Amino acid sequence: MAMKLCVIAGDGIGQEVVPQAVRVLRQLLPQLQTVAADAGWETFQRSGNALPPVTLAAARDCGAVIFGAVSSPAHKVAGYRSPIVQLRRELGCHANLRPTLSLPGCGTPGIDLLIVRENTEDLYIGEEQSDGDTATAIKRITRVASQRVAASACQLAVAEGRRRLTIVHKANILPLTDGLFRDVARQVAADYPQLQVDELLVDTAALKLAQAPQAFDMLLASNLYGDILSDLAAAFGGGLGVAASLNLGEQAAIAEPVHGSAPDIAGQDIANPVASLLSLALLLRHWWQLPALDARLEQAVRATLAAGIRTPDLGGSAGTAGFCDAVLARL
Ligand code: ATP
Ligand code: MG
Repeated sequence: MAMKLCVIAGDGIGQEVVPQAVRVLRQLLPQLQTVAADAGWETFQRSGNALPPVTLAAARDCGAVIFGAVSSPAHKVAGYRSPIVQLRRELGCHANLRPTLSLPGCGTPGIDLLIVRENTEDLYIGEEQSDGDTATAIKRITRVASQRVAASACQLAVAEGRRRLTIVHKANILPLTDGLFRDVARQVAADYPQLQVDELLVDTAALKLAQAPQAFDMLLASNLYGDILSDLAAAFGGGLGVAASLNLGEQAAIAEPVHGSAPDIAGQDIANPVASLLSLALLLRHWWQLPALDARLEQAVRATLAAGIRTPDLGGSAGTAGFCDAVLARL
């Protein structure tokens, strides 16, 4: 099978970190074919479509995608839809993997946490109504999506040798929706006797995560709670510049740095490429099933940071390209 990667750099710093990270990946995978594709706010302004059909077709064809970042207009613009939300849905990427690891000299030591977030439903279905005085949003939780993400989380836990899975919910206030998510996750996890399964209310989970992020192994959460808790966890890992994620499904996987397009620092070669590099490492491990290459890439990033080479967000003076040169030298 030819290995193909669809490269969607997007807007702002996506245009800098993604090509640099892909340059590093090419050294690890010389046989990799890359297909560049457009998406985002600039693409929308140019073509009237933030996710053009050719981009979607290229992403489907490749299966593996790296998606940098897209800017969003500050106000609602007719016809504009977030291309990453649409891409995750179109490609059926039902689980979002958000690891937080302690990297040399960044954030809090001793953390090795994986958050698995449901990626398709909950409050993110965009069903809102308002008459001007009362606004309502639909929170939809389904058995099938809850089962799917719980099964992915349990399989990952076993494959990664993780021991403890904590289900996050607010079933005391939302017994039907969050109760369904919790109950289904419990049922699925019952087939994995090697896992220690527990549960926490989302507010308690936030408190405990803030107090002792090292105490957690793996969290399983619905879409909104997973979004919020994984940003909280990212703060302990060294911030947005190093926070990686992978959107995983049956047909496709999308590597996606957690940060946005960061227009304040775009075009200056100072954006941190580590989030993109580690997102590609997740793709190597979980999509291409090449854990040895994932480990090499992560090791090279660690060694670079340990040598004191870092971008300004981590207190250093390296540029985006210079950091990647240093990683390449250590591969
Ligand atoms: P968007 O609307 O696209 O989300 P944003 O202004 O919210 O853009 P983010 O990318 O979410 O910007 O990041 C918030 C801040 O974090 C930025 O202003 C930037 O200074 C910093 N930041 C984010 N990503 C990086 C990175 N890769 N390297 C360095 N700093 C970063
Ligand atoms: Mg942002």
